[in-house]
Amino acid sequence: MSQTAPRYPDTQLLINGEWRNAQNGRTIDVLNPATGEVIGKVAHAEIVDLDAALDAAAKGFKIWSATSPFDRSKLMRRAADLLRERADAIAPILTLEQGKPVAEAKGEILAGADIIEWFAEESRRTYGQIIPARAAGVSQMAFKLPVGPVAAFTPWNFPINQVVRKLSAAIAAGCSIIVKAPEETPASPAELLRVFVDAGIPAGVVNLVYGVPSEISEYLIPHPIIRKISFTGSTPIGKMLAGLASQHMKLSTMELGGHAPAIIFDDADVEGAVKTLAMSKFRNAGQVCVSPTRFLVQENVYEQVVQSFTEKAKAIKVGNGFDEGVQMGPLANERRIPALETLIQDAVDNGARLMTGGRRIGNVGNFFEPTVLADAPKTSRIMNEEPFGPVAVFSSFKTLDEVIDEANRLPFGLASYAFTRSAENARELGLRIEAGMTTINHLGLALPEVPFGGIKDSGYGTEGGSEAINAYLSTKFVTHLVI
Ligand code: NAD
Repeated sequence: MSQTAPRYPDTQLLINGEWRNAQNGRTIDVLNPATGEVIGKVAHAEIVDLDAALDAAAKGFKIWSATSPFDRSKLMRRAADLLRERADAIAPILTLEQGKPVAEAKGEILAGADIIEWFAEESRRTYGQIIPARAAGVSQMAFKLPVGPVAAFTPWNFPINQVVRKLSAAIAAGCSIIVKAPEETPASPAELLRVFVDAGIPAGVVNLVYGVPSEISEYLIPHPIIRKISFTGSTPIGKMLAGLASQHMKLSTMELGGHAPAIIFDDADVEGAVKTLAMSKFRNAGQVCVSPTRFLVQENVYEQVVQSFTEKAKAIKVGNGFDEGVQMGPLANERRIPALETLIQDAVDNGARLMTGGRRIGNVGNFFEPTVLADAPKTSRIMNEEPFGPVAVFSSFKTLDEVIDEANRLPFGLASYAFTRSAENARELGLRIEAGMTTINHLGLALPEVPFGGIKDSGYGTEGGSEAINAYLSTKFVTHLVI
């Protein structure tokens, strides 16, 4: 049975523990990507609001950095519990503003609670070092201390998940944070911050703003109160923001675009690989930085894989995320439709076979057909630019060395996928593919306890695993001679 959409809440700013409108009352409309209708409004911060958020973050940092990791951890676990309790209520809000099926939205929220818990535990393990001294009476210690107030910029594809990784790591370390969440999908990130407020986090530790992304980043990044930047989004914007951060000597974490190779060898469980990869490709309508994009298939099984994957793509049920059985919702932004159409047309003009899809569905909402292209030449734009949509592009290879060269051809290096029964192939791929992550014979990425991040033009820093909290800590050396 289809679910009824709830009333969509307007979103306010969160500054110094208070939910408030922008001081000048400005707002931005929020659209439902499945209908194109305006469903609500989000407050539009200006400099005066950003100044208030900065003051709050400075004040919040003083309080929170002096709170013991034990107490931070307890509060974070309360917030995780609240998020789980509220998952059924928040999921439809996420679907209304972003489009993904409600079950997928709920999965994102529950995964968010797991991430909060992981970082709550990490908070208690921010170990320093005792370093043996050369002289008698000297104690040498290295402490891990929070870097200071953080500015985080997050996109609309996973409105909760993109925030929760940055926010949880930051507050686990003892930092305060100003989150600039996406204006397209503002209400679900606000519900995420609400669980921290309701769990009792001191005023000013977590703050939330929306507005014009470039105005906010240009103001916050150079500001002396901000000590650390974290951004998730496209490579060109990431390079710009990393440049700005470095000019002002700010630490930064950059989680940027990808163009993931998905390699299938002829010794693999070929049909299993097709099923697994089709599920992964069309999740969130392909608007995922780790989405498999370049499908590289060994020549003996190439046609079989293309045909089988095409059948799977044709069978995907596309529709409103509230409708029963829908597997893929609309694209989150209307601007992605012409972007995808142009990339697909360019591939076809250059000799690619369009196996299925390639067009917008209807003229209401941003629905796009699951699309499969075969034989796109390496020079076509889609073999070089991130489609960030439900498009799989196939080409064939003969040897291990050839496929590794192709996997490494692009400047991106985020996720990669491989399917093979050969331990030797798996070992070579694991070590030689230039990517932050390689998953072999299953989908094993993005768990809280494993590294998550890219290399090359896909950015730097990891947002998961035991290293992630380090991005929000600095090392302070203290040496003490007892007199
Ligand atoms: P875009 O480049 O305009 O924006 C990407 C994200 O960056 C958005 O969330 C946007 O609000 C933010 N942004 C843009 N300019 C900014 C600025 N000057 N300061 C701070 N934030 C800024 O692209 P788009 O049309 O929204 O999305 C399409 C592209 O973005 C995709 O091709 C993909 O590469 C990338 N993207 C990546 C991720 C990811 O998870 N890595 C998520 C969303 C979008």
